[in-house]
Amino acid sequence: MKVLFISSEVAPFSKTGGLADVAGALPKALRQRGVDVLTVTPFWPQVSRAGLQDAGSVTLQFPFGAVPMGVLLKDGFIFLEQPQLFEREAIYGEADDARRFAAFSMGALAAAQRIGFQPDVVHANDWPTGLCMLALARGFSTSSLKTAKTVFTIHNLAYTGSFEKNAMADLGLPWELFSPDGVEFHDHLSFLKAGLVYADALTTVSPTYAREIQTRELGYGLDGLLRKRSASLRGILNGIDIDEWNPDTDKAIAARYTPSTLEGKEACTRALLDKLKLKAPRQGRPPVFGTVGRLAGQKGVELLTGALPGVLDQGALAVVVGTGEDRFVEALKALAHRYPGRLHVHIGFSEALAHQVEAGSDFFVMPSQYEPCGLNQMYSLRYGTVPVVRATGGLDDTVVDLAEPEATGIKFREYSPHALHVALGRAMQLFDDRARFDEVRRRGMAQDFSWGQAAARYERLYAQLMR
Ligand code: ADP
Repeated sequence: MKVLFISSEVAPFSKTGGLADVAGALPKALRQRGVDVLTVTPFWPQVSRAGLQDAGSVTLQFPFGAVPMGVLLKDGFIFLEQPQLFEREAIYGEADDARRFAAFSMGALAAAQRIGFQPDVVHANDWPTGLCMLALARGFSTSSLKTAKTVFTIHNLAYTGSFEKNAMADLGLPWELFSPDGVEFHDHLSFLKAGLVYADALTTVSPTYAREIQTRELGYGLDGLLRKRSASLRGILNGIDIDEWNPDTDKAIAARYTPSTLEGKEACTRALLDKLKLKAPRQGRPPVFGTVGRLAGQKGVELLTGALPGVLDQGALAVVVGTGEDRFVEALKALAHRYPGRLHVHIGFSEALAHQVEAGSDFFVMPSQYEPCGLNQMYSLRYGTVPVVRATGGLDDTVVDLAEPEATGIKFREYSPHALHVALGRAMQLFDDRARFDEVRRRGMAQDFSWGQAAARYERLYAQLMR
C-alpha cells in the first residue's frame, strides 16, 4: 500500500500546533505496519539542508505566473523548495497565503509524479492542503495520481482557509465551482471546503469531535455539509509520542517513576514547587494544579481564571504555562499577583517546563470550549496526573469520570466557571482520599495511547477505499 501524505507542518521540522505532531508520528507508525508512506511538506527556512538529495524540479502554471519548485528528498520525505513563497518568518498568516498553499498543494502532487511515486491513497490535512482533494477529484492532476483515493483529515474545523473570491481567477479555478456545493463559503473561496467537498473520505481526530462538528454549535456553518457527508466521516483518535512522553525515561524531570515507584513523582512535585518558589500556606502538602497550552478562547482560559481562586483560597497551589492572547495573559498575571507564592504563571513556550508541570502536578486542568483531540490530557494520564477536563471532543473520549467504575479523571459538562469550580472541588476531595487517588492515577498510567492503534485504523480506512 502506498500513501502520499501531505502536510504544511511536520514535527520535528516545523510546528505550530497538534497537526505537526500528527504529521510527524502517523506516517512513522504506518511505516512500522508496512505501509509505504511518502510525506510532502514545504522546505521552510528552519529545515536543514543537510542530507537532502536534489531530485530536480517541477514547474506549476497559474494565471498569476509560473512557479518553479525544487524537489528535495530524504528517506520518506519530499521537501518542496520555493524561496519566494516559503522563505517567510511565519508558516501562516501572510497576505499571499492563497497562492502559497495552492502552490504547495499542486506542487505536492506534481513532485510525487516527478519522482515516479504512484500512491493508492493521497492523504491531505487541514485547509492548506484542501486544494489537493479538489485537484484529484476534478482530474486536474496528472495521470499517475488519477486513480488514487483521497482522505482529508480535519485537525481543527475553525480554520477555514478563506480568501477573497478573486483568488478563484488568480489561481485558475473554474467559476462554476464557486457555489455552496463547491468551494464558496460566505462569498469567499474556502480551501477547507475544497477538502471537505471533494475528498473520498473525511476523518477528524476524535470520535466525539466527529459528531460535534455536525452540530450547529461547533460546525462553524459547515455542519450542514458535514451532515451530508456523515457516512464518509469518521473520528480516529490521535496517539501520543510515548517515547518523548515517558515518566520512566524523561530527562527533563527531577526523578523518573513508574506506577510502582510513585515516590519519584513526589520528588518531581517538590522540585517543581522549589523551582517556581511555590509554598503551602498551611502545614502539609497541598494539591498542585497544572496546565500548559495556548491561551486562546478555545482553551477556556476564562473558566480557569474564574475558578482557580476557589481552590487557591482553600490552600491549593497552581502553575499555568502558556502563550497567547493579551487579555488572557493580563488576567492570569493579575491573578498571580493576587496569590504570590501560590500561583505561578509562566508566559512563554517551554518544552522542559511543560514536562515538569506534567510530572509535578497532581491534577492537570483543561476546561476547553472545544478540543478536537487534545494531547496534554493523554500526557497527564501517562504521568499519573489526574486530568480535570471539560467533556468535549477528544477530552471526552480519553478521560473516564470518577463516577464510573474505570475512572481515570474528572469531567464536567457545562461551559461555566461554576462547573469548573465544582470539578476542582471534586479533585480536592479525591486528593484527600489517598487510596482512591492512587488507584485512579495508576489506572490512568496503564492506558495505551500509542500511535500503533491509530495507524491501524487509518490503514483499515485506506484498505476500504481501495476495494
Ligand atoms: P493545540 O494543537 O490546539 O494547540 P494540543 O493539546 O493538541 O493543542 O497540542 C498542543 C501541544 O503544544 C501540546 O503538546 C502542548 O503541551 C504544547 N504547548 C502548548 N503551549 C505550550 C507552551 N507554552 N510551552 C510548552 N508547550 C506548549
